[in-house]
Amino acid sequence: MDTIESVGKCFFCNAEFSKAGISRHLNTHLKQQAKVMKPGISFHVRIEDDVPRGLYFLNLWVDGDTLMAEIDGFLRAIWLDCCGHMSAFTNPKERKRYSIFDVDAMESDDDDDEFMESSTKEILKKDTKLKYEYDFGSTTSLLLTVKEVFPVECPAGIELLSRNEPLEIMCDLCGKEPAAVICTTCYDPSLFCKKCAKKHAKTCEDFADYSSLPVINSPRMGVCGYDGGRIDKKRDGIFVKK
Ligand SMILES: [Zn+2]
Ligand SMILES: [Zn+2]
Ligand SMILES: [Zn+2]
Ligand SMILES: [Zn+2]
Repeated sequence: MDTIESVGKCFFCNAEFSKAGISRHLNTHLKQQAKVMKPGISFHVRIEDDVPRGLYFLNLWVDGDTLMAEIDGFLRAIWLDCCGHMSAFTNPKERKRYSIFDVDAMESDDDDDEFMESSTKEILKKDTKLKYEYDFGSTTSLLLTVKEVFPVECPAGIELLSRNEPLEIMCDLCGKEPAAVICTTCYDPSLFCKKCAKKHAKTCEDFADYSSLPVINSPRMGVCGYDGGRIDKKRDGIFVKK
């Protein structure tokens, strides 16, 4: 997948940028917004998958009164939630992990609550980096970076400014059609277009039984039972050939 490019559209003007260029571009829009918005504090936050040359990213505009737990909730809703696993932010400098359970009945200790119930303005500064992990079994690791701070409020609390467009992942068998299904027990071939998935089902018992998952625009694709997010669903599917 080395040759796959990661691009995102600016949700203000619809222009397309590389992963490297979109954050800077969005800052120019936010500076304009800052001239007309109510005074307050807000952050331009980049979230990306924490692997070398990771391809998945989100750019968020987050209000200073938004809670860390609400960022956790947003990440679960757009990218992660399969069955309510535990998650945590870690500040690499403090080497401390702050955890949260998504299941209401579960308890977490007071320290954890305090961090997750803190507002972003208490935790984030320009250039703050936090590690985020979802599920301590089959972990999905993300990186949060504060790209810029603005002296105005973000009325929505959390606003999605950009995310990577569905990646150009092709079928491992025919190489011609976009992959739509992943077999989680097979390696190479493991990604199939709809047609080739039918062929694979004939040779792979697991696939026919339980190991088939949809290709999703998320770093949690193919993990646990992840089958898609609840927000921005139109960019959650497979890429469309031009
Ligand atoms: Zn733009
Ligand atoms: Zn799960
Ligand atoms: Zn195919
Ligand atoms: Zn298989």
